[in-house]
Amino acid sequence: MKKVLVTGGAGFLGSHLCDRLLQDGHDVLCVDNYFTGTKANIAHLRGHPRFEAMRHDVTFPLYVEVDEIYNLACPASPVHYQFDPVQTTKTSVHGAINMLGLARRLGARILQASTSEVYGDPEVHPQTESYWGRVNPIGVRSCYDEGKRCAETLFFDYWRQHRLQIKVVRIFNTYGPRMYERDGRVVSNFIVQALRGEDITIYGDGSQTRSFCYVDDLIEAMVRMMATDDGFTGPVNVGNPSEFTMLELAQKVVALTGSRSQLVFKPLPSDDPRQRQPDISLARQALKGWEPTIALDDGLTRTIDYFRTVLATDR
Ligand code: NAD
Ligand code: UDP
Ligand code: UDP
Repeated sequence: MKKVLVTGGAGFLGSHLCDRLLQDGHDVLCVDNYFTGTKANIAHLRGHPRFEAMRHDVTFPLYVEVDEIYNLACPASPVHYQFDPVQTTKTSVHGAINMLGLARRLGARILQASTSEVYGDPEVHPQTESYWGRVNPIGVRSCYDEGKRCAETLFFDYWRQHRLQIKVVRIFNTYGPRMYERDGRVVSNFIVQALRGEDITIYGDGSQTRSFCYVDDLIEAMVRMMATDDGFTGPVNVGNPSEFTMLELAQKVVALTGSRSQLVFKPLPSDDPRQRQPDISLARQALKGWEPTIALDDGLTRTIDYFRTVLATDR
């Protein structure tokens, strides 16, 4: 049993990670400032003898005693990370420095939730870890993309300079229950719109692609990454390589919900990547044969069930 810190633990991915670590018998400290996360995501863990939640902003130093750190704190939806872009960069950069400083003092392993956004709008397809990316440094997505890139730099410098045991995963679009209903990301938007019978908002012509991973597959990869040998740092792409256009996604959501919603087309946000698909060869090999197991239709069905319950109790 280890003492494990999860920053961003009340968020979508973080709350599933807390569940998994508790199931594995660990003692979990969840740190979150509740910017995009909610207490509802961890309400079922209240009173659990090995779970503790702490309100804290990772841009400020944190003095606790743990064996491992998963650093997930950072808004992930473009709508939310662009709401206060300066705070987004601070969260990635100051947050990384503080968590790395904490890991250094404790000699703890630390895993960074990085992102496919480090590849920007990629010219290489599918994306491999060796690709350096094509990122606009001054656009509306830069606070997130460059913040996460700088966090990776800090992780690798702490590794080179202080011999810290770092693990970096580059997460591709992941979806599932506990996404915030007003999160603004495409899967939650389409499902909520379809269930409410509202228009489904496709940005641009819907021909841009993403590759969607179900949350359980992603959490499995993160836990396996933390358990890899000392010498292995990553970065490792984690995601599901099945690639879809946003039009295909909208059609699937309409079919699976049985909705009568219409598809409507809205302007494409600036710097929106055209295509995205992970090459997961490295993950397959380094994470002991890890492979996504949940197909999009199956994962969407589970996510739709979740949102049906949320929307029924909400109003
Ligand atoms: P989320 O918005 O649901 O979770 C982020 C959590 O971090 C929230 O609980 C939020 O309140 C918390 N947070 C934000 N700023 C903070 C701060 N300064 N101090 C403390 N807590 C703070 O998003 P998510 O999808 O669960 O993403 C989790 C992590 O995974 C993020 O770092 C994100 O960049 C990364 N990621 C996610 C995806 C995805 O598709 N879900 C893809 C790539 C990377
Ligand atoms: N820090 C922290 N908790 C700790 C140790 C450090 O939050 O237990 C923060 C502190 O703000 C510090 C930063 O991590 O400035 C980086 O720490 P490091 O030891 O790498 O460098 P320092 O800034 O102390 O020279
Ligand atoms: N998108 C869309 N309609 C929405 C929300 C998003 O068509 O209501 C598009 C968005 O323009 C992008 C894709 O879906 O091309 C994925 O967007 P998301 O915000 O989920 O993630 P990211 O762009 O960070 O991959």
